[in-house]
Parts: sequence; structure tokens; C-alpha cells
Amino acid sequence: MSPFFSFTIDAECPGSWARAGTMQTPHGTIRTPIFMPVGTQATVKSVSPEELRAAGAQIILANTYHLMLRPGSALIDSFGGLHSFMHWDGPILTDSGGFQVFSLGHLRKLSEEGAAFKSHLDGSPHLLTPESVMRIEAELGADIILPLDICAAHPCTAVEAKVAMERTHRWAERALIAKEQYRPEQTLFGIVQGAFEPALRQESASFVGNLPFAGLSIGGLSVGEPKAMMWDLLRYVTPALPRGKPRHLLGVGSPEDLVIGVGMGMDMFDCVLPTRVARHGGLFTNDGRVNIKSARFRVEHGPVEEGCDCYTCQNYSAAYVHHLARTEEQLYYRLGSIHNIRFMLRLAQRLRESIMDGTYPAFRDEFIARYIPASEKVREEQREKWQAARRT
Ligand SMILES: [Zn+2]
Repeated sequence: MSPFFSFTIDAECPGSWARAGTMQTPHGTIRTPIFMPVGTQATVKSVSPEELRAAGAQIILANTYHLMLRPGSALIDSFGGLHSFMHWDGPILTDSGGFQVFSLGHLRKLSEEGAAFKSHLDGSPHLLTPESVMRIEAELGADIILPLDICAAHPCTAVEAKVAMERTHRWAERALIAKEQYRPEQTLFGIVQGAFEPALRQESASFVGNLPFAGLSIGGLSVGEPKAMMWDLLRYVTPALPRGKPRHLLGVGSPEDLVIGVGMGMDMFDCVLPTRVARHGGLFTNDGRVNIKSARFRVEHGPVEEGCDCYTCQNYSAAYVHHLARTEEQLYYRLGSIHNIRFMLRLAQRLRESIMDGTYPAFRDEFIARYIPASEKVREEQREKWQAARRT
């Protein structure tokens, strides 16, 4: 048992796999289920650490790939790590960079040693290995860190899925050994892979779950497969995971995903979606996602959502937020992001309360019945747009 990390289960739902827990890290306590806002470049876009804190953020995520390239992990280390560099004194989780590297396509080359790639910024060559990722993440100094893994593409063959999973397992063992020489106060989670093969998912959950990792991240999902397939795969993953370790569903985090994922036994979620859609005008309400730029808000004197306790809704009319969004004013990005982040964190809090008082299944069913998510078609179009934007 590490003196720097613990996870205790406070309540479990008898009618589903939902549970409420408490995690202790060197930078504070996290009550689960929890949503983690994503600060790709050591900043949650357009929102200050004080505003994040006020919105109820307990832990944020930062991206190793982006930060190792710019400004560089050594520079961040010279500032005492991410916490002091970015002025956020709460818990931080860094991913391994694997996902971004595998998204680079032709710019990367895989071998047993690691992943060689060319920077999307200047074309400079880099090599990520399970060992170098542990060093880079030690320099970044997050509370929870992830090992290098291989995220198979969707779709992929069963053979490709198996090869990627087995190499991810060997890399997990190498990461555990390499981690020994760095900061003991950092906690290493394992990553479950297995692509879209139920048997491989089960095998990976059991293999990685039994290694001495303090928690488990489920990787390789929400990469373009239908939502139903993702939930179906979790049916194989969750029962194979040890009960006592926290479970993180990597890169997943729309409101409906959070509500359903909790029932599938997941404790932690992260996604750029809430802040990204906010910047495009998409704001969350209990009835679903609305477009603040639409004409219906032009003369709306009330807030974006009646009863919302976020800074935006407490202080500004929907008409004003609509005006800022239409004129693409800087303040809009901040106000829109704050509303969506607060929505996600309040949702996580309500999920936790429902698990604690034994009403989670009813809460889930009511939420899903009322909330109208973006349709599969709309999501697909958005994903294509974002992927195109990333390539440029
Ligand atoms: Zn609000």
C-alpha cells in the first residue's frame, strides 16, 4: 500500500455496478464518480484555475504528448512540476501520450522498443518508450500517471487487436519497473486495451488488473465505434477488474456517457467534449444540449438554464451569452466553458448522491429519458470536423 494514494468505496448500488468512492492523493481528496476537465496544454481552455475550483473541479487532466513537445517536460520540471507551473494546487492526472502518438498515423512507427514519431509542430523525431514516458511524467509531476499503451484503430482485425494488447501488456510491466526510480508520490494506473474483441477486453482487464497498479484506465474506447459497442465491451471488462481499484474510462465524458458509465462500474471520466462543444455554442441543460447561438435565446432574460448554480447563469442572461457567442467575443468562451464544466461536475455530484442514498437506477432512467443527446449523425460530423481541424 502506498502512503501517497488510497481508494475506499463509500457505497455500492445493488441494482447496477455503480459505486461511490473516495480517493486520496498528495494534492487532495477526490470524491467519485468524478468528471475531470481536460487541460491539454496545461490549461483548461479559457478557464483559470480559480474558476475551475469555483466550478467544483477536484482533479484535472493534462496531456503528456503536447507538453513534452511544448514547452518541454524539463522546463516544467524546473518550475517544480505542473502544479506550480500552471498554478493549480489540486490533483492532476497525465496521460501517457500514447493516444496522441497513435493518432499521428503515418508520422509514427511502432516497434517493441516503443513508438517513434515526428512532432506535428516541427517534424522533429522523437521516441517514446515505456521507460521514457515514466521519466517525462515524473518531470511533469502529476499525482496520477499512465503508462505508454497502444490504442488500436477502429475498425481493426482481431489479430491486430491481439498484437496491440499483448504489446501493451509487456509495456505495462516495463513501466512498472521503470517507475521505481522516480517519484514515489506519483501513482501509476494501468491501461486496459483489447480493442473491440470482448474476449481480449476480458483478458486485458484481468491481466492488467492483477498487476500492481493502484488503479485502472480503460483505453481505446470512444475512438469512432458506435456507443452501444462501447457499453457492450464494458460488460466484459468491469467484472474482470478488481473491486478495490478505481476505474477510469479514458476520453469519455458527455453528460449521458457519465450517467451510463457510472452504472457500468466506472469511477472517473475525462473528455475535452464539454469545453470543446461550449466553444462552438453547445451548452448542456437537463433537457439536452442547446445551441446558445440559436434565435430562441436572443431576448431571453433568464439564465442559460433555470436553476443552474454556475457563475455564468448566476450573473448573466441567456440573451447576453447569446450575444457574446454570436459576436465571437472572448468572454463567451470563458462563460460557455464554465457553464458546461459546472454542469458536468454537478452531474457527477448528483450521481454520487444517488449512489449514496440508493436511488441511482431511478436517477439514471429519469436523466436519460429527459436528456436529448446530440444524435449519432451529428456526433459523427463533429468528429470529422475536429479530426480535419487537427490535421491542419
Ligand atoms: Zn450555468
